[in-house]
Amino acid sequence: MNLDFGVFRRRLEADLARLDEALSQASDSTSTVTLDQSSVGRLSRMDALQQQAMAQAMEQRLLVQKRKLKAALDRIESGTFGLCCQCESDLEPERLESDPAVVFCKACLLEREIGRRPLADR
Ligand SMILES: [Zn+2]
Repeated sequence: MNLDFGVFRRRLEADLARLDEALSQASDSTSTVTLDQSSVGRLSRMDALQQQAMAQAMEQRLLVQKRKLKAALDRIESGTFGLCCQCESDLEPERLESDPAVVFCKACLLEREIGRRPLADR
């Protein structure tokens, strides 16, 4: 497959920069809540803890996404970008186009999703 790695690299790096921005905001909101927990009432403390938990969940999602982007950049460096990480066939160009950090081809993705489902759903 003839992929323009440069284009994908620039997109991944731009996404990574945006993620870092979002991550620094997310870590701001996880730390702000901790500071005022002694000064607020029980109910609003619950609210604060809930908000903190949501901010932490958001932060986790951003970190996962960041690892994906970094892994995609690594694959560009090592020349395996655009290949499925499981079966090593070419990834669908339109899927790379919509998400350059995509890791598995459609067939492998489907296989993995079925594998994750509890037995009763199969
Ligand atoms: Zn595959």
